Amino acid sequence: MSQAVAAEVQPPTKTDTQVAEELPKLLARLREAHRRKGPPDEAERLRWLSRIERLMLTNKERIADAISADFGNRSRHETMIAEIFVTVSYIRYVKENLRHWMEAERRHVAFTFFPARNEVLYQPLGVVGIIAPWNYPMQLAMAPLVCAMSAGNRAMLKPSELTPRTSDLLAELLSSQFSDDEVTVVTGGPEVGQAFSKLPFDHMIFTGSTAVGKHVMRAAADNLVPCTLELGGKSPAVIAPDFPIETAAERIIGGKLFNSGQTCIAPDYVLVPEGQVDELVASLKAHAARMYPTLASNPDYSSIVHPRHKARLEKHLEDAAQKGAKLVPINPAGESFEGSPKLEPRLVLGATDEMTVMQDEIFGPVLPILPYKEFGEALDYVNDHPRPLALYIFSHDDRTVQRALRDTISGGVSVNDTMVHFAQDDMPFGGVGASGMGHYHGREGFEALSKKKPVFYQARVNGTALLRPPFGKTLDTAMRFLLGK
Ligand code: NAD
Repeated sequence: MSQAVAAEVQPPTKTDTQVAEELPKLLARLREAHRRKGPPDEAERLRWLSRIERLMLTNKERIADAISADFGNRSRHETMIAEIFVTVSYIRYVKENLRHWMEAERRHVAFTFFPARNEVLYQPLGVVGIIAPWNYPMQLAMAPLVCAMSAGNRAMLKPSELTPRTSDLLAELLSSQFSDDEVTVVTGGPEVGQAFSKLPFDHMIFTGSTAVGKHVMRAAADNLVPCTLELGGKSPAVIAPDFPIETAAERIIGGKLFNSGQTCIAPDYVLVPEGQVDELVASLKAHAARMYPTLASNPDYSSIVHPRHKARLEKHLEDAAQKGAKLVPINPAGESFEGSPKLEPRLVLGATDEMTVMQDEIFGPVLPILPYKEFGEALDYVNDHPRPLALYIFSHDDRTVQRALRDTISGGVSVNDTMVHFAQDDMPFGGVGASGMGHYHGREGFEALSKKKPVFYQARVNGTALLRPPFGKTLDTAMRFLLGK
C-alpha cells in the first residue's frame, strides 16, 4: 500500500457547515470564468479530457490503494477494470468522436421557408454540478465529469463521504490538473450534499439512491435546474427455460460478487423455471467456488464499504430467515467472517414480497432465487415492481428475447450476460422511472450537457412578409393551397 494511503484519513480543515456556506462563492467563480473565457473550442476540450485520462493512468495504483483503504479491502483488479479501464476507455471514445459531435447540424427547411437555412448548434450550458456515490467512487465522479467537459462545461463535484480517502485523492488530483475556475471538488456529508443540490447549476448529475435522488430533484426544482438522475433499484436476471443453467449461473454469480454486489446494475435477484432451482443453486455455488476458492482471506473479494451497510444486509437476511426463507451460504473454504468487513455471500430460497430483501435494492452479496411456472409470469413479476435499472435476460431463442425486450421496461439490458452493457462506450446509460431519468455515456452524455440550440438563418430574399399584417388575398390563397378549403 502506498504511503499516501497508509496514512489515516486527514481530519477536514473545515466543518461541513463552513464548506456548505462557501459553495455559492465557488459556483460564482466557475460561472464567471465560463462567461469571461467563453465556450472552449475543440482543442481546449481535448486538452481537458487528456488531463483526466493522464491523471487516471499515472495514479492508478494510488487510486486502487485509496479505494481499498476506504472499503477495508477492494479488489485491485476490480478497481483496474471498473474504475480505471472503464473511465479511460470512455475518455478515448469521447476524444475520437468529439469533433463530429461538436459540428453544427444542418436541418431540413420546409419549402414554405425556402431559401432560409436551419442549423442546430451544441452549446455548453455553463457549470454542471456532479454528486457521486461511494460504490465506484472514481469512475462515477469522472464519467459525468468527462461528459460535462466534453460538452465544454466547467464542473463542481461532490463525492461521497463514505470513501473519504478517495474523495480527498480526487480533489488533490483534479486540483493538480485544473484551475479552480475549471473544476472544483468539495467534500463533505449530507449537509454539504443538501447545500450543493440547492445551487443554481446549469445542470446537475446525481448518482446515488432513489431516496436521496428525490431530495436532490426537489432542491433543484427551486432553481429549475435540469437533473440527470442515475439511481438504483432491483435489477432482475430472468433465465428462460431454453437457456443452459450452468452458463447463466456463471454470468449471474460473476456479476453479483463483483465489488461484493455493491453495483447499481448488479443482478439483484434471479427468476428461474421452477424445476431448475436446485440445479441453479448447485451451479451458482460451483462457479462461485471456482472464481473465489476463498472469500474472507481473498483480496479479490471486496469488503462491504461500511459496518452500517454490513448491518443493513445482515438485517435483510435475518428478516428473510424469520419469515421462512432458506439461506444457502456460499463459503467454499468454510471460513469465518466474524469481525471481517466482508460478508459471506448467501442465496435466498423461498423469498417473498413480504421480506425486506425483496422490497429494497440489496446492494450486497445476497441473491434471492424466485421460481416461476411460465415465462410470462416472470415478466409479470418484473412489471409488477418499480422499473429496474438493468434487466438480464438469458435465452438463445430470439422470440423469447424480443418478448422480454418488448414487454418490460428497464434502464438497460444485457442479453445472456450481466452488467456488460454499462461498459459499451457508444451506448447511452440511464434509468427509467424509479431507477432514474436522463442518460449519460455515449453521444447522449455530450448532448445531455449541451444546449441543443436551433438557429434559423433568414435568406435575403424570402416570402415571410406574407405572414405579417395586413394579411391579404395572397395569404388566403396560400393557406387554401396548404390547408385545403
Ligand atoms: P446516496 O444516495 O446515499 O448518496 C449519494 C451522494 O449523495 C453522496 O455523495 C451523498 O453525500 C449525497 N447526499 C446524501 N444526502 C444528500 C442530500 N440530502 N442532498 C444531496 N446529496 C446528498 O447513495 P450511495 O449510498 O452513495 O450509493 C448507493 C446508491 O447509488 C445505490 O442505490 C445505487 O444503486 C446507486 N447507484 C446508481 C448508479 C447509476 O449509475 N444509476 C451508480 C452507482 C450507484
